[in-house]
Amino acid sequence: MLDVRSCASLSEAAGIISGDRQALLIAGGTLVMREVNEGRLTEGTLLRVTDPAFRQVNASGGRVEIGAGVTMAMVLANRDLSYLHAPARGIGGPAIRTMATIGGNLFAETPYGDFTVALLALGAEVVVQAGYGSGRAVPLEDFLAGRERGGQGLVTAVQFARPQNPSEFLFRKISRVKPKGISVLSIAAHLPTSGGRLVQPRVAYGAMAPVPMRARGVERALDGKPLDTAAIQAAKQAALEGTRPATDAIASDWYRREILPVHLGRLLAGEPR
Ligand SMILES: Cc1cc2nc3c(=O)[nH]c(=O)nc-3n(C[C@H](O)[C@H](O)[C@H](O)COP(=O)(O)OP(=O)(O)OC[C@H]3O[C@@H](n4cnc5c(N)ncnc54)[C@H](O)[C@@H]3O)c2cc1C
Repeated sequence: MLDVRSCASLSEAAGIISGDRQALLIAGGTLVMREVNEGRLTEGTLLRVTDPAFRQVNASGGRVEIGAGVTMAMVLANRDLSYLHAPARGIGGPAIRTMATIGGNLFAETPYGDFTVALLALGAEVVVQAGYGSGRAVPLEDFLAGRERGGQGLVTAVQFARPQNPSEFLFRKISRVKPKGISVLSIAAHLPTSGGRLVQPRVAYGAMAPVPMRARGVERALDGKPLDTAAIQAAKQAALEGTRPATDAIASDWYRREILPVHLGRLLAGEPR
């Protein structure tokens, strides 16, 4: 039998999740409720969180914090988060965006997880609360590496340094059905510059590995260079380093590898799809 409980505070929910491995949060419920409705999830406790802190956004300062319960629609309604509008708009249709949360996106299995790809390129940390204590910030990359092991507790928020120049943040989702198809792949790039050269660029992919990944070869190829034809060519040559795409109903692993360098090159060059 499924037991549904409401928690008025984040620490109450975190305490229950830490003490009961069968307890699951319902955030937007776009994935969890599918499991329930299709009869795959029939036992355990489902938790709702009504704590306003879960849906809080603090985006005007240098350090941005977004509550894990913030929906894609809320991101789209927030002007201070304009650089995240492209990834938020790319998730499902309007009904899904009204419910889908950024916290739930961190747990969505590939080829889902488009918003998480953007957060990875922004160097985000995930605030995880295990038990009744205070939360600890974990680099998103480490969080994703440990995700399959489960038992990580409640994610309360994500944090990252606000891009100094929003136009230096790029995102592109490639799908067969437009405008709301599932990703063949997605690419996010944060490309800060100083004196006309890229400084510690961060590039991330979705659907090119079992979880969203950093494109370290591309980052190395671009670091310290002006974003010119030669640098873009070097980035394309390094594009496939570390990738392990799957074959699924959307695309084959071969197809994903074929098109990734093409779309990476177009994104970096500011060309349309
Ligand atoms: C028709 C449709 C289209 C979709 N299109 C896209 C798409 O284009 N791109 C995309 O990325 N995704 C897509 N999705 C998948 C999904 O809607 C999103 O990934 C969404 O962000 C998941 O968030 P949620 O709040 O609904 O998660 P939920 O269903 O509430 O939760 C998902 C899982 O994460 C856990 N969880 C959620 N929040 C937390 C938290 N704060 N702490 C700990 N555990 C947590 C839950 O317990 C559950 O196991 C689509 C889904 C549907 C049904």
